Amino acid sequence: MTTVLEFNNVSVNVRVSGKEVALLRNVTFSVAQGKILGLVGESGAGKSMVGRVLSGMLPSNLRFAGGEVRFHGETLTGRAARSYLGRRIAFIPQEPLSALNPVLTVRQQMFEHLKHLGVARRDWQAYSVARLNEVGLPDPENMLQRYPHQLSGGQCQRILIAMAFSGDPELIVADEPTTALDVVTQAQIIRVLREVQRRHNTAVILVTHDLRMAAHVCDEVAVMYAGDVVERGPAREVLASPFHPYAWSLKNATPGLEGPQYVLPALADLMPGLKDMAELEGCRFARRCPTRDDVCARTVPKLEPVAHGHYVACAGACRSDVGQRQPEPHVLLKTASTAGRPLLEFRDVARVYHGQGRAKGREFHALRPLSLAIYPGELVGIVGESGSGKSTAARIMVGLVEASAGDVRVNGVSRRDANSAEQAEMRRLVQMVFQDPDSALNPRRTVERLVTQVLDLQPDVTPETRREVAERLMGQVGIAKDALNRFSSQLSGGQKQRVNIARALCVTPQLLVADEIVSGLDVSVQALIMNLLLTLNRELGIAVVLISHDLSVIRYLCTRVLVMREGYVVEQGDTESVFSHPQHPYTRTLLASVPPDDANAVWPREVEVV
Ligand code: SF4
Repeated sequence: MTTVLEFNNVSVNVRVSGKEVALLRNVTFSVAQGKILGLVGESGAGKSMVGRVLSGMLPSNLRFAGGEVRFHGETLTGRAARSYLGRRIAFIPQEPLSALNPVLTVRQQMFEHLKHLGVARRDWQAYSVARLNEVGLPDPENMLQRYPHQLSGGQCQRILIAMAFSGDPELIVADEPTTALDVVTQAQIIRVLREVQRRHNTAVILVTHDLRMAAHVCDEVAVMYAGDVVERGPAREVLASPFHPYAWSLKNATPGLEGPQYVLPALADLMPGLKDMAELEGCRFARRCPTRDDVCARTVPKLEPVAHGHYVACAGACRSDVGQRQPEPHVLLKTASTAGRPLLEFRDVARVYHGQGRAKGREFHALRPLSLAIYPGELVGIVGESGSGKSTAARIMVGLVEASAGDVRVNGVSRRDANSAEQAEMRRLVQMVFQDPDSALNPRRTVERLVTQVLDLQPDVTPETRREVAERLMGQVGIAKDALNRFSSQLSGGQKQRVNIARALCVTPQLLVADEIVSGLDVSVQALIMNLLLTLNRELGIAVVLISHDLSVIRYLCTRVLVMREGYVVEQGDTESVFSHPQHPYTRTLLASVPPDDANAVWPREVEVV
C-alpha cells in the first residue's frame, strides 16, 4: 500500500520567555492511500498544528525545529506544501458557514476554485454539477445559484467536501468537519465523506476531539496531548482498550448511550498552556495523570509498541496493569421527583413569528402548542436538531421570549396575570445559563462583579456582602476564591462556564434552564460541568432543564426527556425507556446518528428518513 504522508519526529517550537517550547514534540505517524487517520485530543493538544505544517503556513513566531515531513516519499517543504494546496493536499474546514464567502454564490465560489485547479472554463458548469451530485446535494443546478446563508450548515459542509475533492487530491485534512453540526447532519456528513474518500481512494487525516467517532470512522488513530502523540494504533482497538491514561480518561469522561451509568471521572486541572509547557520536564500529562509516579516528571516518554501496530508513550508505570489503575466507577444517582406542585408549567404554549419584508404574510411556527410540567428538583432534557423549537421553549421558560398563545405558570401563578412583584419573583426562580460564556460574560468585569451582577440592583449592598456572596458562589461551583479578582479572559473554558452558572445561582433560583451549555466544551470539561449540575441538583434541590442536541449528555444528566422536531414534541418520557425503546421514527433516527459505545458496531448506519 502506498504511503502518502509521513511525519517523522516532527517538532515545531515557539519561544516563550526566552525558552524554546515544543508545540509539536517528535510527532510520528503515517497515512497510506485510501486510509483515514484520526488525530484525536482536546483543545491545545496540537492537532491543528499538524494541519498548519501541512499547509506550509506556520505563523512567523513558530519554527520548524526538527524531523521530516515526507509526501509520497519526498521531503515536503513549506513552499512545496503551499504549491500543493487544493491540488494534491486539500482541507475541509471546521466552520462551513464562515469558510464560504457570504457575498458570492456557490457557483462563483466553485468556479473560482476550479480556475485555481486549472480546469478548462467550458467544463466548470458540468464539473460543478457532477461534484455536487457526488456529495448527495439534490438539484445541484439550483444549489449553485444560492448564497451560503440560503443553505443549511450540512449543505455548506457538503459543498466544501465537493470542493476539497474537486482537484482529486492525494491527501485531505478534515479539521473537525462536523463539530458545528447537529447529530443527524454529522452522521450524514461523515457518511458522505467516507463514501467519496473510498471512491477516490484518498488518504484522509480526520482531526477530531471525539474518540468514539474517530474509532468508527478511521483506520488508525493518534491520540495527542500537549503536542505529543501519546497513543497510536488501530482505531477500534484504541477505543475498545486504550492504554495511555489520557486516552482512557477521554474514553471514561464520554457519557455512553447504553449500559449502566457511572459518575464521569473528570480529569483534574487543565491541558498545560505555553508557560506550563516551558516548565514541564518529563511527561506533559503527569500533572493530571491518575497513575503518575516519581519517574514521570523526569522522563519524556517515547512511543513504544504494546501490540502489533499499537504504540503508547508512557514511562511504563501504567502499561502493565492498565485495567486496575483506572478509577473505581461510582454508580450515578439522579433524582426523579414529580411530587408536589409543578415549579413551571406550560399549558398549550406556542410561539409564532410573522414574516417581514418579502416574507410578509408568512408565519413561522417556532413552537407548536406544548404542555409540560417541571417539578421541583427534576432533571429534564429537551433534545432535537437546530430549528426544532427547543431553544424557543427554553427562552419562553425564562421569560426572554413571550408566548404567542397558551399559559406559562411559575409556582402556580400565571405569568400573564402576574403583578410586578410576582414577575420579579418568577425571574428569580427561573434562571437561564447561556450557551456561550464568552458572549454572556462582560470582559471588563472581574469574576466577583460578574457573579454578583444582580446585586447592582440593590442600593445598599456593601463590598463585604458582595464578597461574601461571591465567595459562597465560588464554593458552589468549585472555583478557588482567588479567581474572584480575575477577568473572564483569564479563565479557562470550563471556569468561564462555571462562572456563568454561578451568576445564575446568585439569586438562589429553583430552576436552571441550561441551553447547550456543554456543547462547545472538551469532554473532560463537559464532564466537570455536568457533574456540577448534578451536585447542585442533589445538594440544593435545584431543578434543571437541559437543552442539547447531544443525546449522551441528555441521558447522563436527565431522568425525563422530550424529543422535539419542527416545533412539535414528537416523543417524551423516562430517559432510559425513550433511549432503549424509542417509539417515534425521528427518535430512532437521532439515536442511530450517534456513534455507538461499542467499537465494533457499524456506524454511521443507514437510518430511517423521517
Ligand atoms: S508517563 Fe507517568 S504521568 Fe505520563 S502517562 Fe504514563 S504514568 Fe502517567
